[in-house]
Amino acid sequence: MTAMLGVLGGGQLGNFFVLAAKKMGYQTAVLDPDPHSPAGFNADIHIVAPFDDIDALNQLASMCSAVTIEFENPPVTALEHLAQQVTVRPSPSAVAIAQNRREEKQFCQSIGLSVAPYEVLETREDLARITSNGVAETHLDPFSVPLIMKTCRNGYDGKGQQIVKQLSNILDHWNELGNVPCIVEQKIALDAEFSIIVSRSEQGQIALFAPTQNIHLDGVLDISTAPSQLDSQMLDQGKLAATKIAEKLDYVGVLAVEFFVSDNRLFINELAPRPHNSGHWTLDAANTSQFEQQVRALVGEPLGDPSMTCSAVAMVNLLGDRWANGEPLFELTNTDSCAHLYLYGKKDARAGRKMGHLTMTGDHVEAATNSAISLRNAITR
Ligand code: ATP
Ligand code: MG
Repeated sequence: MTAMLGVLGGGQLGNFFVLAAKKMGYQTAVLDPDPHSPAGFNADIHIVAPFDDIDALNQLASMCSAVTIEFENPPVTALEHLAQQVTVRPSPSAVAIAQNRREEKQFCQSIGLSVAPYEVLETREDLARITSNGVAETHLDPFSVPLIMKTCRNGYDGKGQQIVKQLSNILDHWNELGNVPCIVEQKIALDAEFSIIVSRSEQGQIALFAPTQNIHLDGVLDISTAPSQLDSQMLDQGKLAATKIAEKLDYVGVLAVEFFVSDNRLFINELAPRPHNSGHWTLDAANTSQFEQQVRALVGEPLGDPSMTCSAVAMVNLLGDRWANGEPLFELTNTDSCAHLYLYGKKDARAGRKMGHLTMTGDHVEAATNSAISLRNAITR
């Protein structure tokens, strides 16, 4: 009988997982409350229910041999419930760390990795401490405006964040975010951003995809290019950090680590306990895609070869804004054999919503990036 693999979450990452699993001979079951979720559409089974619905979780566990996630915010209690009945990878405890910015930062620091200077903001006392001390007594680095206040939980694509330009306005910003636990972090002058997607198997085998350089627009990923052209020492430091994080978490699965580079220093931005938008290029330019690695790690197969199949690749996101004047002219992407178009099958093309992406392979990063951007412009009405 064909094994069935489960995934919590039905977005585009889940959909790519489903497609990779199918190709490898597995059946799939998706749990997501949205009846129109992209992954639910392609999975063999779609359980339409909230993530904390115990009956739905039991149903998923009973039909699957292993379950993974495609977003970082399923309730940890749901994962723990599943883990009593079925293999869950990554582990609920690793996901718990990655879904809380405070725990994520404290974990990185505890294993000797740097994060941007920050303060925890959970209580009125924290607020008073941050405002009265301004430059906090405890930090080695400058801690001063501008700051970014981020909710500890549930942020994505720059949501749940406020820029603090004046310390005197900090309460207004916290009110704006609903007074939930936050971290307030130094807005640092970024020289570059990159990410490393690390896969780790049950036996501890590690496979790293090529470091990927990322450009964000308004807090949302816009362009990813690989291999990153940053200084190789910096990238090596990133690879060591990503490996260390995966090992210290005893992580099994695919994990994305986002890095900031500022003034020749490396800071961990955040962890994503799942495949990542910046790794979508692996679908077209790596011997094994990040989603195939996710399947392999989940079922306990050896990891595949993560190396690139071409010299350079660029990926550009297609946000809903590009639908503003009508459906993009997708037929234009057919004329270039280096171009690969992916649409996620989402119904409403809302501004800022990730609707698809375009990947361009090539011989040089700069040329591939320029071609990807030009083609994206050309298809936009
Ligand atoms: P995503 O889901 O896209 O990863 P997110 O909502 O989790 O986004 P972050 O990764 O915290 O948000 O921030 C999004 C982007 O905003 C970063 O990639 C970076 O470009 C910018 N940014 C965030 N924090 C800082 C900072 N402390 N200093 C400078 N830039 C920052
Ligand atoms: Mg991020």
